[in-house]
Amino acid sequence: MKLSALCLLGVLAAGIAPAQAQQISEPEVTRIISTLAADSMQGRMTYTPGIEKASVFIAEEFRKAGLEPLPGEKDFLQRFITSGRKVLPLDSASAVAEPKHLHNLAGMIKGSSKPDEYVIFSAHYDHIGIQKAEEGDSIANGADDDASGVTAVILLANYFREHAPERSVIFAAFTAEEIGGFGSRYFSRQLDPAKIVAMFNIEMIGKESKFGRNSAFITGFERSDFGKILQANLEGSSFRFYPDPYPEQRLFYRSDNATLARLGVPAHTISTTQIDKDTLYHSVNDEVESLDMKNIADIIEAIAVSSGSIVGGKDAPTRIAPENKD
Ligand SMILES: [Zn+2]
Repeated sequence: MKLSALCLLGVLAAGIAPAQAQQISEPEVTRIISTLAADSMQGRMTYTPGIEKASVFIAEEFRKAGLEPLPGEKDFLQRFITSGRKVLPLDSASAVAEPKHLHNLAGMIKGSSKPDEYVIFSAHYDHIGIQKAEEGDSIANGADDDASGVTAVILLANYFREHAPERSVIFAAFTAEEIGGFGSRYFSRQLDPAKIVAMFNIEMIGKESKFGRNSAFITGFERSDFGKILQANLEGSSFRFYPDPYPEQRLFYRSDNATLARLGVPAHTISTTQIDKDTLYHSVNDEVESLDMKNIADIIEAIAVSSGSIVGGKDAPTRIAPENKD
């Protein structure tokens, strides 16, 4: 008795909480990332057959997760067109020069008590395709950028099917981030920003952050109390969210959260990239083998748990000042 009490004290002193069962499965992380980053996807370049294969796979994962299409859509494909740099609705195709067809993938779980308030989890599924060959390899697989983020979105969809949300949750995979953020620009304009409580955009979580394993950073940390809420929900865990350590890179307005952030939504990007020294970034060597699958599963789990009070309808992060455009 005495001994076991002492042991318990020892465990508490070491800061080890009784382990909660891991809910995000590492083999599932590996399966999904490996599929998205496979050579058969040809680097998922926008407007190529490779990205279409990725789209088919993601839609099937959304279906298996039990998501429903967004209001007004018949399936998970959110279709639109581009004309030059313009991003336009599908029905304007006949009125513009050289329309090109694109689509995001988006699905949702309706909230049980606050269905008209939305929380978004997103990542981009396009990448940069075929690049100059290095040692006979010309496919930029984009395992970290951003198959890792899309994997998080798919596994979060599965997680919230098991943990029914109070607010409606949208899961989105954006196209054409790498060539101008076209997908997120279109997506963001289809929603009333006033109804969006928060956006968790997930971009490059494949390798450990400069703060080590079990950590990630949040862009625009100081622009809302989103990060503080997330960290508060992780009390008792060893996981830490940090402010973006690379402010000079201006990452806050360089990713798919930017459009909604400019409209005042607490829309932030969660990442672990060591952007200042990642030699694999945007190269043919951004491969599955360079990723830490266990760390990715832990980060996705931390995102799921840390979003609990927001998805659960209790917390709403402060809004971002719309005039803060940098
Ligand atoms: Zn990216």
